[in-house]
Amino acid sequence: MDARPFIDSLDFAGNGRQISGEVPVAGLPRLLDALEDLQGTLQYTICGGADKQGNPLLDVGITGSCRLRCQRCLGAMEHAVRIDTRLLLRDQASLDALDAAGGEDEEEFDSILANPHLDVLDMLEEEILLSLPIAPKHEFGHEFGACQAAGGGNMQKEEKNPFAVLAKLKQTS
Ligand SMILES: [Zn+2]
Repeated sequence: MDARPFIDSLDFAGNGRQISGEVPVAGLPRLLDALEDLQGTLQYTICGGADKQGNPLLDVGITGSCRLRCQRCLGAMEHAVRIDTRLLLRDQASLDALDAAGGEDEEEFDSILANPHLDVLDMLEEEILLSLPIAPKHEFGHEFGACQAAGGGNMQKEEKNPFAVLAKLKQTS
């Protein structure tokens, strides 16, 4: 088994380093709660660099697929992971200043703490967690045949009309 990758983030950014690799979803245990199971593999690339102002940053790309649980039928659904994000590296004082200023809402990019021993998989986990839909559902359209929820095409109407759901409950009781 490969050693867990760590990078010295500022050195990595300053020297324009790059790493890429592949990690099984099973290697990212924090995702377990959010996923149907731990099948799938993800490819990642991390490139160090700097923005126009010379601030160190990491460009993180993650692709692959994982399996989510459909909130309508509770069945498994494939979810394509396509993450392309830029993380600015900041020291603790600068992060604190950001917090005091009301967070990073107006910032173009997210910031992370510059860490001489950055746990790459931990960072990837975080980015994937942030990217996952809160209530994933099989989509209407080509995927909908996979949804095991009863009702098929009627589901969309019922969702928009809570009384239809009540009426259905009355019928069955
Ligand atoms: Zn479904």
